Amino acid sequence: MTELSNHRARKRFGQNFLVDEGIIAKIISAINPKPADNLIEIGPGQGALTAPLLERNPGLTAIELDRDLEQLLARKFAHHNDFNLIQQDALKFDFSTLNTRGPLRIVGNLPYNISTPLIFHLLSYQALITDMHFMLQREVVERMAAEPGTKVYGRLSIIVQYHCKVDFLFDVPPESFFPAPKVDSAIVRLAPYHRKPLQADDPELFNNLVKLCFQQRRKTLRNNLKQLSGSYDVESLPFDLGRRPETLSLREFVDLSNQLAHQHEH
Ligand code: SAM
Repeated sequence: MTELSNHRARKRFGQNFLVDEGIIAKIISAINPKPADNLIEIGPGQGALTAPLLERNPGLTAIELDRDLEQLLARKFAHHNDFNLIQQDALKFDFSTLNTRGPLRIVGNLPYNISTPLIFHLLSYQALITDMHFMLQREVVERMAAEPGTKVYGRLSIIVQYHCKVDFLFDVPPESFFPAPKVDSAIVRLAPYHRKPLQADDPELFNNLVKLCFQQRRKTLRNNLKQLSGSYDVESLPFDLGRRPETLSLREFVDLSNQLAHQHEH
């Protein structure tokens, strides 16, 4: 334990280390790693998940930003010859370089300060990814899984649900970590669709539309879509423009985006 307890958790790297063996076992069993999986852990920290993952998946890849932790992990798992430890910023990492061992399975107890941009970054590699299991702030998992009309439903819900099947797996209390975070946490499973149930004909327009609609979530569609009126005939859309964007389902957003996309075909 001496080496591990010498590392002081760095707040700027979002370091809250898992110490609850029961929760660790529950996470590993939710992931259900197989020896041949191309498994990638983001932010291994002091190896709380890395050790049980390596037992089941000797070729594990782990990406850690903190150089001190990278050195600690390299020593700790020196006898694991197939362990692939990378010292890099996961936000800037090119995940397609790991595709040589088959489709990616990504896991991590993520630093909460970068979780949303990291998930957007990973979604740009979605065609290569089988599934992702993340520990996140509970509120972020709630937003990902949210239904329309709820307080937490917004851009993150729509974009993540457009690309992935989302499963809220279970809660993790602050006491499961050291140091304990100030917020509750939860485990989510995201499985990117390789054939999307709903398809936007112009994905860039869909992204922009969702972004635009949630810039002012309390305003009506009409108000939020004003900026598009130079390029599109918003008023002729078969939608009640008096509705608030937060009441629209994913299907309705895709529909709205496709209606706009088709206006430009004529
Ligand atoms: N997996 C460990 C555990 O469960 O105990 C540590 C989890 S801790 C919440 C997040 C980890 O991500 C830390 O080890 C931190 O140094 C690392 N980290 C922070 N930002 C990162 C980044 N941009 N890229 C890769 N790792 C990062």
